[in-house]
Amino acid sequence: MDNQFLISLTKKYESPLYVYDVEKIISQYQKMTNAFSSVKKLKINYAMKALSNISILKVFNSLNAGLDTVSVQEVQLGLKAGFDPKDIFFTPNGVSLEEIEQALGLGVQINIDNLSILEQFGQKYPKVPVCIRMNPHIMAGGNSKISVGHIDSKFGVSIHQLPLILRVVKNTGMLINGIHMHTGSDIYDIDAFLRATDILFEAALDLKDLEFIDFGSGFKVPYKDGDHQTDIEELGAKLSKKFNKYVKSTGKDLTLIFEPGKFLVSEAGKLLTSVNVVKQTTSTVFASVDSGLNHLIRPMFYDAYHHIENISNPEGKKRFYTVVGYICETDTFGSNRRISEIKEGDILSFSNAGAYAFSMASNYNSRYRPAEVMVYKGKDYLIRERETIEDLIYKQIDVDLQ
Ligand SMILES: *Cc1c(COP(=O)(O)O)cnc(C)c1O
Repeated sequence: MDNQFLISLTKKYESPLYVYDVEKIISQYQKMTNAFSSVKKLKINYAMKALSNISILKVFNSLNAGLDTVSVQEVQLGLKAGFDPKDIFFTPNGVSLEEIEQALGLGVQINIDNLSILEQFGQKYPKVPVCIRMNPHIMAGGNSKISVGHIDSKFGVSIHQLPLILRVVKNTGMLINGIHMHTGSDIYDIDAFLRATDILFEAALDLKDLEFIDFGSGFKVPYKDGDHQTDIEELGAKLSKKFNKYVKSTGKDLTLIFEPGKFLVSEAGKLLTSVNVVKQTTSTVFASVDSGLNHLIRPMFYDAYHHIENISNPEGKKRFYTVVGYICETDTFGSNRRISEIKEGDILSFSNAGAYAFSMASNYNSRYRPAEVMVYKGKDYLIRERETIEDLIYKQIDVDLQ
């Protein structure tokens, strides 16, 4: 997707605009399946919370991916996109038994992350196979906001409580067909990750109905030059070997599952915005764009770095800018970035806007959420229209007090 093409999309669909490169999504998916090609039964479940547009889901369905969902509404969207219920995993945390029962009614694989619901579920549905989310308490990297493997994390059942799980399983006679972990959002230490998998392999020995092991996600992608990224080939080589050996030695015909979100879609997306104002203060030059934390909250929420380029003037002289949004909050996208000279009306592009970008967008300040466009083989497809005033009023009830 070259600059001229991206600029032409902002003319066609207006700014701000989300653009997704489908070929990049496909190549990331293939990178992952290639890295684990020696595993006989491999399943990649796309974690759809990263980017949940139904047209993107259909891309994954056509690749034979499964789907990882965290709410019953995501399950419903997945079914609408044409996924077979058996390819949908429901991996919520802290939801009610009622919501789990709704998902069960839709025929998807249930993953339970606490002992209380596990016991209630086992008593009611002893014949329905479920997966258990474990917490191996291994930090494979990342900061505490996005790492969910530590000891006081709310996610999963602690590995130290395995005896309690086994007691529930025995007392209820329930079937456990899978074991799962999702340690955190950034794996930069492969050996730490492998230690967590060892803990899962060990725990799995006690579960006789096991059909799969789901190692979650945490695949890190680069956000800027020189950024560390998960070495997927190295992880694939090392973990495949371990997994194949385990399958052989235990005689269990297991499927290896991963559920990446960010790895598959982050780099495929760009948020294109246009510069409303260039404002020189005594210390700083601000470039204000027609977007803000309502469209891309990661920089403010996680201190995430998103690379910013002036695609209207890529060869211009580099200057320092602080790029901010138009929301009435401090919504700084990047401070003191070296960007080619910016003029009002230029198009700034934000990288890594495929994952947790649109899907975390809101209507704060009563702004519309942007349109989304998908690009495949040089052709652009509008996959979501920009909102209008009708969307902001939709479902509101206009009451006149007497
Ligand atoms: C969010 C989530 C993922 C995906 O995480 P990424 O960092 O985007 O790869 C996978 N599994 C579960 C259970 C999740 O909640």
